Amino acid sequence: MGKFIEMSDALMDYIGKIGVREHAVQARCRAETAAMGRISGMQISPDEGAFLAMLVRLTGTRRYLEIGTFTGYSALSVALALPTDGRIDALDVSDDYVGRARTYWAEAGVADRITTHIAPALETLDGFLKAGRAGTYDFAFIDADKTNYAAYVERCHRLVRKGGLIAIDNTLWSGAVIDPANTSDDTRAIRALNDALANDPRFDIALVAISDGITLLHVR
Ligand code: CA
Repeated sequence: MGKFIEMSDALMDYIGKIGVREHAVQARCRAETAAMGRISGMQISPDEGAFLAMLVRLTGTRRYLEIGTFTGYSALSVALALPTDGRIDALDVSDDYVGRARTYWAEAGVADRITTHIAPALETLDGFLKAGRAGTYDFAFIDADKTNYAAYVERCHRLVRKGGLIAIDNTLWSGAVIDPANTSDDTRAIRALNDALANDPRFDIALVAISDGITLLHVR
């Protein structure tokens, strides 16, 4: 164990109580998503939501790009931290999940800050580039299909301004990245991306062990 803490459910509960200030609608989104069963694992954890919100505040983010919205907890966390003129583009392939997300955003009074794009994300991102949005985003969060992660990073590198931030979720993939016996498509995609980013001169990097691992890239 060395100098590191092994995260337990009890410690996570403790963090949730004293280290996260959850809006009532965030709490309800989380509870109702948990009731959906196994799929709820696609939702970010409360401390990750607080962390993203903190990054948004620290970077003065006004234009935020989210790839993978699910039932809306992550976008809600960020929307609540944005200035009133802040805007989120939220990308997902599921109208069902995003339909649920919209109800939470409306109840929290932030629906006007979030524009949804229901389509394969690469199509939407390429559309943004064609529409002249290169360099216009302050912050992009990637949390969608893992086999497209590398392609999303390339699009985000063009869409996020110099000095902006790209955050990539699940880059430790439950530890599978260091298990050579795990050769699933998702694991290989994340492992290859991690290897490539380790020495990518276009970014400064910090892979932080929050939740399932979040890689932060500062666009040089
Ligand atoms: Ca995730």
